[in-house]
Amino acid sequence: MTDWKVFFDGILTERDLKINEPMSRHTTYGIGGPADVFVTPQTEEQLIEILRKADAEGIAVTVIGGGSNTLVSDKGIRGITICMNRMKQEMTCEGEWITASGGTGTGTVARFAEKNSLKGFEWAVGIPGTVCGAVFMNANGYGSQMKRVVEEVYAITRDGKEKKTYGWDDLHYGDSDSVFMHNGDIIVGVKLHLSPGNPEEIKREMTEHQISRRTKQPLEKRSAGTMYLRPPGYHVGPMIKDCGLIGFSIGDAQVSTKHPDFVVNNGHASCQEILDVLHEVQKRIMEKYHVHVPLDVRIIGEGVQQER
Ligand SMILES: Cc1cc2nc3c(=O)[nH]c(=O)nc-3n(C[C@H](O)[C@H](O)[C@H](O)COP(=O)(O)OP(=O)(O)OC[C@H]3O[C@@H](n4cnc5c(N)ncnc54)[C@H](O)[C@@H]3O)c2cc1C
Repeated sequence: MTDWKVFFDGILTERDLKINEPMSRHTTYGIGGPADVFVTPQTEEQLIEILRKADAEGIAVTVIGGGSNTLVSDKGIRGITICMNRMKQEMTCEGEWITASGGTGTGTVARFAEKNSLKGFEWAVGIPGTVCGAVFMNANGYGSQMKRVVEEVYAITRDGKEKKTYGWDDLHYGDSDSVFMHNGDIIVGVKLHLSPGNPEEIKREMTEHQISRRTKQPLEKRSAGTMYLRPPGYHVGPMIKDCGLIGFSIGDAQVSTKHPDFVVNNGHASCQEILDVLHEVQKRIMEKYHVHVPLDVRIIGEGVQQER
């Protein structure tokens, strides 16, 4: 058994380290069993030291940002869970380029772009979580996606030994896919390339998106956003509706009655209940339409595995 206080001695203060920390406190779903140890580094130096030491001692490391696209197992997470959203938040604007680092929120970056009269990131204004999480997921909305605005990404390898700069071509962006889903590097910053815009128009577009989200999405309930990837040529929402699955529930996990692509937590849903609802939706759509609907949520922790 690792003595975590000894392990992190000289790297983190006790305030930045929680043992047996329920992950339900750190996911927008409010779901997830205990992380053996949950840490919130604030500097790149701390992050690098943690990664190097974990690598040297063969301890598993899991990374989260704002936990807004993550479903954590009921058994929790073994090893070290690094939460990036307390990393020092810095943003700069030079001409058409915005650089944002650490735990900066995606919405905060969108507002910063507005303040600097730059357009191209209005769609991201209501997306929860960190901009580094959005880079990882290739977050998208209102016809755009990170892929269209990211110019460079700054990362640290999982063993903490190397700092890397990724150009656009290196990111291998796909539908909710990026190189980081395959190589495990930890993203610490991003440079976006936007274009000059009219501040009033930027603001108006953001307001429209915010209203649209409030009207269409079940923001009053806990969730991790939309749960499925769209198979080419299909729309998932209408298929869910057609299968009679609106409001379908197992325990406190329910297909949203407001937006069928969301599976909400009505109170005390477990990870397993959310997965059971997702699998039932996949099964019923397969039976009716003979198409596989992949999942668009990150599934992490003991006893579960990433599915698509
Ligand atoms: C109400 C609601 C609305 C949403 N609307 C949208 C939407 O319009 N469009 C959209 O695309 N998504 C949406 N989402 C999903 C989610 O907010 C985004 O995918 C978001 O970008 C995830 O960021 P995060 O920091 O919360 O990532 P997390 O959920 O913490 O992590 C997601 C994945 O990224 C990895 N990760 C996070 N940070 C890093 C890092 N620094 N380095 C390496 N890996 C990292 C994690 O390991 C995990 O696999 C919504 C979610 C909710 C709850």
